[in-house]
Amino acid sequence: MEPNTIPAPIVAGNWKMHKGPNDARAFGRRLAELAPWHDDLSLVLIPPAISLTALVDEIGTHEGLYFGVQDIYWKEQGAFTGEISAAMARDAGAAVTLVGHSERRHIFGETNEETRLKVAAALAAGITPILCVGETEQERDAGRVADVIVAQLDAALAGLQPDEIGRCIVAYEPVWAIGTGRNATPQDAAAAHGILKDRLEVLCGTRAGRGVPILYGGSVKPDNAAELIAADHVDGLLVGGASLDPDSFAAIAAAAAAAYRKAPRLPESAAP
Ligand code: PEP
Repeated sequence: MEPNTIPAPIVAGNWKMHKGPNDARAFGRRLAELAPWHDDLSLVLIPPAISLTALVDEIGTHEGLYFGVQDIYWKEQGAFTGEISAAMARDAGAAVTLVGHSERRHIFGETNEETRLKVAAALAAGITPILCVGETEQERDAGRVADVIVAQLDAALAGLQPDEIGRCIVAYEPVWAIGTGRNATPQDAAAAHGILKDRLEVLCGTRAGRGVPILYGGSVKPDNAAELIAADHVDGLLVGGASLDPDSFAAIAAAAAAAYRKAPRLPESAAP
């Protein structure tokens, strides 16, 4: 079995549609001054695709630092105006791609079947999909959290071999927490992540399933990062708005690395 190539704990920053190449370079210069590289933390920067090479060139390589894109199309190349393939993303320096972010699902109408095709395309091109799942507020109020996130997980991973599932990362991002300033409680996050871990174990066995890192995303800030990453089954954080400022992103990374180190982990975190 191939191990996951991006080890937990992980702090990833999704810039969404912010920062062109010049702003990305300025971010990179400041981040390099702050040098938030930690031996025991994987940092992932996910700018708009058009800014990726500028950011990579500005920051260069550092132990534990990875770059990514926010979306890919599942075809390798061809007449698909406006799209980029997984291989193109990898060529530009991406080690990961987000797949099925709630803004793709809810603003652009991305379906579970499309997330499945994108996960498979990312794996085939040798980049790690970060599959995003999460319930809306209405679904939460109706007591459907487990149904919704398990259905999204099952649909996106359908047809994959256990070792392929073992190369994915999952992000639990409750839709009501994204960009709202209302983060899930550590208890809510632990419960949802526990459901996803159990399901991953069913889908691909204990070793591969429990080794899949699950990130929490939704209004993570420097002052709540520690308590969220210390929750059971939480292997990292996916940060949107607070990742746009290098100082704030570096503060989240430092808080997360320290809290993860100290938190008593359940056995799955030790899984190779
Ligand atoms: C996100 O975009 O994935 C996200 C979690 O956003 P925010 O941190 O702004 O809620």
